[in-house]
Amino acid sequence: MIVKASTQEKITHAAIKLRGGELAAFPTETVYGLGADATNDSAVAKIFAIKGRPEFNPLITHVRSLEEAQHYGIFSKNALAIARRFWPGPLTLILNRKRGCPISWLTTAGLSTVALRVSDHPIANELIKLTGRPIAAPSANKSGRISPTRAEDVLNEFQNELGIILDGGDCRVGLESTVLDVSGANPTILRPGSITQIDIENNFGPIILANKMAKITAPGMLESHYAPNCKVRLNATCIQTGEVFLGFGKNSIVGSKNLSETAELNEAAANLFRMLRDLDQNNITGIAVAPIPEHGLGIAINDRLKRAAAPR
Ligand code: AMP
Ligand code: MG
Repeated sequence: MIVKASTQEKITHAAIKLRGGELAAFPTETVYGLGADATNDSAVAKIFAIKGRPEFNPLITHVRSLEEAQHYGIFSKNALAIARRFWPGPLTLILNRKRGCPISWLTTAGLSTVALRVSDHPIANELIKLTGRPIAAPSANKSGRISPTRAEDVLNEFQNELGIILDGGDCRVGLESTVLDVSGANPTILRPGSITQIDIENNFGPIILANKMAKITAPGMLESHYAPNCKVRLNATCIQTGEVFLGFGKNSIVGSKNLSETAELNEAAANLFRMLRDLDQNNITGIAVAPIPEHGLGIAINDRLKRAAAPR
């Protein structure tokens, strides 16, 4: 059920469900999350079951504050400075797990690290506060599919398999959080996002961007991911028979969609998943996507597009 007006009363209701080991979907500034009490094994197991994740991949745990995060993960001086600079916001930090950390081992897939994030979305934060627990929340979509940026997208994914979807309108960022591993000596971006390598390096010195050669440590690093049902063709400037066009800037075709007519990468990121979903209809053979410049947020957009276009 979609809860249209996410009032205090409705958020409280969702928090009670979460405390009781049920799932609830909620908005964040990145994409909609599918939440469970991160300390409850059987609640977290429900996330894997309903998403159809082929194996137990680690989940991001959402917490209220940096102070709370310090109960669960070990922050180096550098990690602390990075968290102070970018939290609350679309950055997930991978940290060494602290002794006595109550987060379920299923949430972290048995790893000795935890993935933590403090969101800046008021509904997410109110929900976490009222639940009084850390909330494990991957994107609220079936495994491998496009992340949802609207409550209706979540409903389309799960229909009546999911009891509660708090509606917070369109997600502001529209791309999943940047995942930065600060558990070792060399901070490494495992998944690019709206907080870019340059944003981080400007303040904190050189970091590594994990590439394809790296061991796959995050499902966001899987070759095929974020995929619509139909084929995706990249760097297109025209359409072939049966295709629809997803333009960018001046690269546009009448009657098709455009990620940003003014070629703004922020706007394109916020529109990406929604437009892919809207174009992904039964009567087309594929989505042809215009070239997106490979700088700033364009790096994260192209990362998602490459995976959407990868052979399945
Ligand atoms: P999602 O399921 O879309 O929310 O994505 C969560 C991302 O965080 C995935 O890419 C995970 O693999 C990654 N992640 C979570 N925990 C860890 C961890 N301990 N080490 C490395 N990556 C992680
Ligand atoms: Mg996901």
